[in-house]
Amino acid sequence: MASRPSISKPRLPFRHALFSSSPSSSAASTCGVVCCDGSSNSASETDPFVLTTPLYYVNTPPHMGSAYTTIATDAIARFQRLLGKKVIFITGTDEHGEKIATAASACGSSPREHCDVISQAYKALWKDLDIAYDRFIRTTDAKHEAIVKQFYSRVIENGDIYRADYEGLYCINCEE
Ligand SMILES: [Zn+2]
Repeated sequence: MASRPSISKPRLPFRHALFSSSPSSSAASTCGVVCCDGSSNSASETDPFVLTTPLYYVNTPPHMGSAYTTIATDAIARFQRLLGKKVIFITGTDEHGEKIATAASACGSSPREHCDVISQAYKALWKDLDIAYDRFIRTTDAKHEAIVKQFYSRVIENGDIYRADYEGLYCINCEE
């Protein structure tokens, strides 16, 4: 039961750097980095156009809502390809959460079996709808788990996650 650390240090120190300097020097430095650097212009032409759907929860099979956002993303991806851009269109399934464990046990299957079946149902539907995605991410992929572990270890090193008491309502569906 560690006590909550006091939050006295500024959470977003870069804001102070942006807003405390005089307007002219601030504008000049921002412009130099963001828009007036000749190399950044040419880089944006070769940078891929990356877009993603939500990673859908596998507690239920895909439905109209999942089709809607995926078709909209597919339309944007196709338009960007017509413009000649390299596109990385990401979709996939989020396979972690209490409601997924609950759905799996309600079907009498293990979480892994349940995730495999529902994730496959998403892939089958995107094939039927001719969705031209580039990457299908499952949050249980070893590669994805490695990235998440690296992310959290960096967040913990920064002191942004700590043990403390929490009291309040929790909604499993909203996960908050
Ligand atoms: Zn809720």
